[in-house]
Amino acid sequence: MIQPLSILLAAVAVLGSPDGKLSVRLEQTPDSKILYSVEYAGQTMLTPSTLGLVGQDCDYSLLTYTGVDSQAVKVDYRLDRIKASRIQHDAVRYMTHFKTPQGRLLDIEWHISDNDVAFRYCIPRDTDTGSIRVMREETSFDFPEGTTTYLCPQSDAMIGWKRTKPSYEEYYKCAAPLGEKSQFGHGFTFPCLFNTPAGWVLVSETGVDSRYCGSRLEDYTAGKGYRLAFPMPEENNGNGTVEPAFALPGCTPWRTITVGNDLAPIVETTIAFDVVEPKYESRYDYRFGKSTWSWIIWQDASCNYDDQVTYIDFASEMGYPYCLVDAFWDQNIGRDRIEELSRYARSKGVSLFLWYSSSGWWNDISQSPVNIMSDHIARKQEMRWLQSIGVKGIKVDFFGGDKQETMRLYESILSDADDCGLMVIFHGCTIPRGWERMYPNYVGSEAVRASENLIFSQYECDIEAVNATIHPFVRNALGCMEFGGTILNKRLDRANGKPRPNGRIGGTERKTSDAFEIATAVIFQNPIQNFALAPNNLEDAPEAAMDFMRRVPTTWDETRYIAGTPSRSAVIARRSNDTWYVGAINAVEEELSIDVNEIASMLGMSEAVALHTVDGKLIREEGKFRKPIKVSANDGAVLILR
Ligand code: CA
Repeated sequence: MIQPLSILLAAVAVLGSPDGKLSVRLEQTPDSKILYSVEYAGQTMLTPSTLGLVGQDCDYSLLTYTGVDSQAVKVDYRLDRIKASRIQHDAVRYMTHFKTPQGRLLDIEWHISDNDVAFRYCIPRDTDTGSIRVMREETSFDFPEGTTTYLCPQSDAMIGWKRTKPSYEEYYKCAAPLGEKSQFGHGFTFPCLFNTPAGWVLVSETGVDSRYCGSRLEDYTAGKGYRLAFPMPEENNGNGTVEPAFALPGCTPWRTITVGNDLAPIVETTIAFDVVEPKYESRYDYRFGKSTWSWIIWQDASCNYDDQVTYIDFASEMGYPYCLVDAFWDQNIGRDRIEELSRYARSKGVSLFLWYSSSGWWNDISQSPVNIMSDHIARKQEMRWLQSIGVKGIKVDFFGGDKQETMRLYESILSDADDCGLMVIFHGCTIPRGWERMYPNYVGSEAVRASENLIFSQYECDIEAVNATIHPFVRNALGCMEFGGTILNKRLDRANGKPRPNGRIGGTERKTSDAFEIATAVIFQNPIQNFALAPNNLEDAPEAAMDFMRRVPTTWDETRYIAGTPSRSAVIARRSNDTWYVGAINAVEEELSIDVNEIASMLGMSEAVALHTVDGKLIREEGKFRKPIKVSANDGAVLILR
């Protein structure tokens, strides 16, 4: 084993959290490297890892520490679409100063709160050079021996359906040994979860906009850890540079590290939002909420006028403000009749979201409309038209990766859409990186192996529960996740188990209980939820489930971890005004025990309603809960506490 050099080194600076439990230790090696490590409650969470970056004109990987300034800050802001509505806590900002052997200056800024560390490189304009092209970062993350990993591999670029990857849709591998090679040899996508002997660490990044690329982690190197890597050259069909560039003075995005002895700080962290600012103010008041969506169960064939009317009527019956019309509407409904459809929808109290491909010169997508969102002139005209016909949002699909060029496209779409009062959901895309606070009209990203896969393969249905228990601790802990879930069909097709004309039963078979599915409406979070409910569920699903789906909020005032481990179970509580909603799901044979009274008293509530499974049926129970609710594999429960 390679001994970290730093064992012999004295710290040049120790940067502490407001409560003093978390600290970042900076060390200087004799060969001018700067290492950092993270301790929490006296235990090592990150072992010495490297800092620095290499610019095309200046190497900032060799550094000498010259000093630090610090300032206590009060984090206090409102957030209207994820995790919590008011965020208030203390933090400390540190500016650590360094110089290169040539005398060039570099600052590393640190934002440290009680369970979070964020840092970024800030480069002054200390010569005539007015910009930097960052060739690579030395930033790395290393962990103590015995750490296991919960990681999602980065895909090859330009593979998969219509050459649309990478799009953050690979399988997480849970509890893998530290250093295990990634599935495709391209490392791992953010967020990355680690279980160290002392607790949990979530590593990610935030504040990525048009001025940088999205990053990932390379495969593990002994003695170095997981080094931060830029996008692959093949992404975006080879267009655009891998290396980001920005004007000086300027800063990189923030890299974030959340630590805890248990998973509560991971589930509850707001670090992705704490260190960013809104990039523009909107003159529109965006209203978040629930939506129906025909494509998920009825697929491409449903993109016609009559089926969309059925789904608009369904939204209206459910009291949902939105209906999402997916691909091919321009061909199968037409631009004139979509105006008529929008008018019809509004007469029923429903507004439309319309689907677009992002393409582009980076995939083979024929799903239409194409070539509008990638074209600045066409995009602005289209958005003005959308606004004029009362459409409230767009879902833009199939982006080309994480290069700076693509980040610029995301930002341009958001900014132009806001000019026309349109909300934006991204699909086939990258993860959000602080965008919930940065862009007032951003309302979600897929960037997860989402509900569509349950339609495509039985295997996905078989492992639905396992996947679902991972997301609250990793993907959805970082930001909005547009999963498109809560399926109440037993069979995932239009006939829902009725024989087709050829006598066969179609569709994949759902393995989870109804209680499980409605619990995911609490556990998975996105401010606009395109649920996978179908109109037939008004007749064939339990009334208690449909009633819950009418009421469940999509935005929350507070979020709490109650119990669970990724790939095994998840129990998450979210507060809306004075009501707590608790979602519980279980993926393993071992029964999950939900003590209603204990959870209610933990949250300071006295009245409880539970939706759970008894003898294979969803029931609604209220009053005294004398014994805990038992949740078996593929089952779930919902508590509503007042
Ligand atoms: Ca997708």
